[in-house]
Amino acid sequence: MRFAPSPNGYLHLGHALSALICQQWADALGGHLLLRIEDTDLSRARPNFVDAIHEDLAWLGIRFDGPTRVQSQHLGLYDEALRSLYQRGFAYPAPASRKEMADAVTAYETDGRSWPRDPDGSPHYPFRDRDLAARPERMPDEQPIRLNMEAACKARSRTKLTVQTMETPHADPVAQPLDPSLWGDVLLRGRDRPATYHLAVVVDDAAQRVTHVVRGKDLEAATSLHRLLQELMDLPAPIYHHHHLVMGEDGRKLSKSEGAKSLRVMREAGETPADIRRHLMD
Ligand code: GLU
Repeated sequence: MRFAPSPNGYLHLGHALSALICQQWADALGGHLLLRIEDTDLSRARPNFVDAIHEDLAWLGIRFDGPTRVQSQHLGLYDEALRSLYQRGFAYPAPASRKEMADAVTAYETDGRSWPRDPDGSPHYPFRDRDLAARPERMPDEQPIRLNMEAACKARSRTKLTVQTMETPHADPVAQPLDPSLWGDVLLRGRDRPATYHLAVVVDDAAQRVTHVVRGKDLEAATSLHRLLQELMDLPAPIYHHHHLVMGEDGRKLSKSEGAKSLRVMREAGETPADIRRHLMD
């Protein structure tokens, strides 16, 4: 099991629930619980949030095994994985800026048509760079790189892509079919992201020998893409469990960007770890 927060804000109740459920699974299975700091989005990650993650989790009483893995210390590993995908024709340079992409999608949608979006709501890449016969043989060092979903799915089409999921730590794993094509040509490396979440998460789950990925339902859709990347890179497939989310009063999942109350604000207001555990786990 691993808990893998991104240091771009303070932890809130949603993170506390995830960390507590990871701990519960690790205890139930007699496994290890690892901490990973997912800080490859260089424009948003901040060192003070890394310190706060350690402090808040220690206050909550979560015990981790082994050293913390910090993704920004392993950029060479993601680069190697990306180069291998590129060399095998599964990735291509996609230099368009955010604005160029947004303009192309808007232009397409002005006459009432809708451009496909991925499960997170981002429009699929609107240009056909993947078709360029002139794709440089060597992966360029600077440009954004995207997955060639069509080539990836074609390479996988002889056997169906599946995921093994478990509802509880002692349930039998159940295999489910997956369709990663919904994600389109996702970004694997961005201008200020030497590796995107999707690339780094699969490389690290393998590097840390994670056997069970326990995380929130908000990441359930991404599992099809992660399983595809694992297959393309010949990495072991963990078992997945996607737990329920903590909802705010507005019925939507808590989010840092929308100002969910942080654990440290709750602590300063006099709440105890026992209050939080009771509130989330009872
Ligand atoms: N870093 C991700 C987040 O904070 C979690 C990644 C994962 O558990 O796969 O949402």
